[in-house]
Parts: sequence; C-alpha cells; structure tokens
Amino acid sequence: MTNLIGFPEEKLKQLFADWGLPAYRVQQVLSWVYHHHARRFEEMTNLSKELRARLAKHFVIALPRIAAKTHSQDGSVKYLFELGNGSQVESVWMPDESRTTLCISSQVGCRLACSFCLTATLGLKNNLTAGDIIGQVLAVNDDLPEENQVTNVVMMGMGEPLDNYEEVCEALRLLVSPHAMRISNRKVTLSTAGLVDRIQQFAGEDIHVNLAISLNATEDATRDQIMPINKKYPIKNLMECLKKYPLKPTRRITFEYVLLKGINDSDEDAVRLGKLLSQVRCKINLIPFNGFEGSLYQPPSEERIKSFQNYLIQKKFSTFIRNNRGTDILGACGQLAAQAMTGSTTP
Ligand code: SAH
Repeated sequence: MTNLIGFPEEKLKQLFADWGLPAYRVQQVLSWVYHHHARRFEEMTNLSKELRARLAKHFVIALPRIAAKTHSQDGSVKYLFELGNGSQVESVWMPDESRTTLCISSQVGCRLACSFCLTATLGLKNNLTAGDIIGQVLAVNDDLPEENQVTNVVMMGMGEPLDNYEEVCEALRLLVSPHAMRISNRKVTLSTAGLVDRIQQFAGEDIHVNLAISLNATEDATRDQIMPINKKYPIKNLMECLKKYPLKPTRRITFEYVLLKGINDSDEDAVRLGKLLSQVRCKINLIPFNGFEGSLYQPPSEERIKSFQNYLIQKKFSTFIRNNRGTDILGACGQLAAQAMTGSTTP
C-alpha cells in the first residue's frame, strides 16, 4: 500500500478531486499528518467516517522506526532509524538557543567515495523514499516535546541528496509546503558534493531552499584525490554553474570546507579559496576534520584553523568554524554510518 507520508501534495489533490472532494480536505489531511502527529486515520476527527475508511483502504501512515537514540554531552541526539525495508539510517538533532536543527539522511550509504567520510565506506546500499526522508523529521517530532520540535532541517546526513533527486525533491516540497510541514524555505538547506548537472536541474525547480556546496579543496589535483566526483565535475565547471545559479537577492550559497591537516589547509589554499569564491555571494563554513576509526586524516591545529579563517574574514567573507556537535557519539559531519555498518543498537 502507498505511504501517505511523502505522498506528493499534487497527487493527493488530484486523487481527492477524482473522489469529488473539496480542496480543503487535502489541507485537513496534511495538517493532521504533518502538524498534529496523527498516525492513524481514526484520529482525523474532522473527516467523515466514510472518508477515513476510504483513506485507510488506499494508504498506510508509516514512519521510520527509532531503533536507538544516543545522547551527546553537548545536548545533541543521534537517532538510528530502521526503514521499512530493514535498512538503517541516522539523523542528528541539535538544539541551539533559538532553534533546533535536524540533520537528515537521503541515502543508505553513498556512492561518491569521498576519502574523508565514514558514510562513504558503506558504498551505496539504497535510496530513501520521500516518506523515509521527511519521515525522519516527523519521527523526531513525535519523540520530542512541543518546545523541542524541529525548526530547521539540513540535508547533510548520510548520502548525496542530488543522487536521489526525485525523492529528495518530493520530500523538500512537503517540508516547505504551507499545507504540510510549513518550515520556511530559508530554514532548510540541501548540501551537495557538487553534481553540476543536477544543480542546474535543481535551479529550475519550484523549491527555493538554501544550497550548500562541499568544496573541500581549491585545486583539482587535491579535490580529485579526496572527492573522486571532481573528475567528472571539476572545480571550474562547478564554479561556473554556481555563478549562474539563480540566487534570490537576500540569499547566499554556503561553501563547506573540511579542513584536513597538510592536505588543504595551507595559506595558499586560503588565498585560492578567496579567489574562487570572490564572484559568488556566499558564506563559508570551515569544518575541522572529524576522525573515526581507520581514518587517514587529522584536523589541523587550532592555530592553523584560526589563521585560515582570519585570512578569509580579512577578505570580507563571512567565515565560520562549524563547532562540531556530537563528536562524542560519532554524530558530527562525516561520522554517520557507524551503527548502520555494525548493526549495533546502542541504547
Ligand atoms: N553528500 C552531501 C551531503 C553530506 S553533507 C555533501 O557532500 O554535501 C556532509 C558534510 O560533512 C559535507 O560537507 C562533507 O564534506 C563533510 N564531511 C564529511 N566527512 C567529514 C569528516 N570526517 N569530518 C568533517 N566533515 C566531514
């Protein structure tokens, strides 16, 4: 049966029209599912019994199951989910003073093989459905009290979102729809390793969330080595495509730059990064490398990281050092997948 969660709003509208129902019924159903935590059709008390029965014949309401929760000392929580097909993915919930951000996954594993990322060691196991993707947000919201509900979503968990294009787009539409999840598109970010063709396609969608690019190197030789996707989409092509990206006037592209000691952290790298980014309205997030067992790299010293940042700030870039959340629970950038790999479920 079809999962109502992740089912496109447009298709639901069509179905209800075919059933001879007014449009506001669609909004009522979406509001129940995405806002009022309804997980059974009987709970939708403003719908007729007949309609509830009809819906129950066509749809199930299925969420990823929380298989484990791990709490970090910094307040963030890593969720391990089991999906309908038995595979597992992780999300990380991060509270801040004024917001709570959920980092969600788009694929089980990933096929891009970036050499610094733990998820890459899994290879691509499978693609999440739109229901699995937005279902992570709903399942976390079901698990948390009202004051901790998710306000911001970043697609920076396991997988390459643009490599699971259609399902990710459907999930994003529901996330920002004023009838479904109602999260402002300014509070949703899609991060990509730089699949140029897909970025161009995404620019043409009716989805105006923030775009983040994992650049991570300033020369092709280095980027080829740490991000093999660079051989297909080299830095020059990527930057050309981003210069043309139809950014709304108040928006900026975020560039993520994982700092790897001795690989991409020199003064020359900082200078090249400044030059590369000079023609794009952007901000920069520097992410000191997060280690894991068997990893090949080290983060630079505090001093090196600061000096890299200071150069960019001096060149007038908004440059942040991403304070890593959840490193103690392998919940920080690039650390997701450990549990999925071993299959262990730490309580
Ligand atoms: N595939 C997408 C989404 C994943 S986002 C992308 O590449 O953007 C995960 C972010 O964490 C990326 O910016 C990636 O460069 C970064 N990252 C991966 N492994 C890391 C590690 N070990 N330490 C710090 N950052 C890492």
